[in-house]
Amino acid sequence: MSLQDAPQPSGTGRLLNIFKDRSVEDHGVGWSSLWDSGESDLWDRGKASPALVDIIEQESDLINPLNQNGSRKKAIVPGCGRGYDVVMLALHGFDAYGLEISETAVKEAEAYALAQIKSPSAYHFRSGEHRQGSRGSATFLKGDFFSSDWAFTEDIGGSTKFDLAYDYTFLCALHPERRKDWANSMARIVKPGGLLICLEFPLYKDPSLPGPPWGLKGVHWDLLSQGGDGVVWGNVGEDGKEEATEHCEKGAFRRILYAKPALSHEAGKGTDMLSVNQRK
Ligand code: SAH
Repeated sequence: MSLQDAPQPSGTGRLLNIFKDRSVEDHGVGWSSLWDSGESDLWDRGKASPALVDIIEQESDLINPLNQNGSRKKAIVPGCGRGYDVVMLALHGFDAYGLEISETAVKEAEAYALAQIKSPSAYHFRSGEHRQGSRGSATFLKGDFFSSDWAFTEDIGGSTKFDLAYDYTFLCALHPERRKDWANSMARIVKPGGLLICLEFPLYKDPSLPGPPWGLKGVHWDLLSQGGDGVVWGNVGEDGKEEATEHCEKGAFRRILYAKPALSHEAGKGTDMLSVNQRK
């Protein structure tokens, strides 16, 4: 099935309506207008991703916030919204960056981070031990993920590559035509050996139906491990059975961990998958 053949929005859903008649190039303006009209509650979960908290705390050898010389690693969350996951990463010791196309989102994230770094909410941690750990910084950048301009700002040391990137509800917010660009941009900004962690959502939604959010079953695997264009219409094996390593040659990343998280946001509970993809 081609993109043009995809069923059209049924007319339900504010998000679908905002994007259905916009050209793909104009989607960033659509997101900014939703932030400006105070409609971020359409996607905002109100807290950091429980699945990310768990993996950061439980896999501390794999996802260590410090380099061997003791300096902090850099983490980035493209399409970070209000910045919950950015702040959580900073509270766990990373120098964390959030990238947003919306000026309003950047301002709201900065205000949120200021309050939370001083007095963090309980949802940022699972274990008390991590509550006491050393903290990194949280910085928010305004920019379009698909342009490289933002990556050269002094705020991040100019064209710095990241040790860790996290995606939750950013890929599913993008039109399928942009998926390959998303994968190429991730490959560009993550260091060799660095990690791209994805909380894969929504996996229950038929990928041929219109979004946002766009159904992503099989999409991350296709984009990151197989080097495909990510327009797979869910035509892949069952979750967890997609790991045939002979297909890994072409992708820029190697999937090193794939698990159903014990805890996730309400919207994806029981269906979300967490993948850790290492840049080759
Ligand atoms: N990850 C966030 C927000 C998800 S909604 C959360 O979990 O709450 C998708 C976000 O991506 C929106 O805030 C939107 O403004 C932002 N966005 C959309 N296109 C973008 C682009 N090209 N570059 C940067 N941010 C973008």
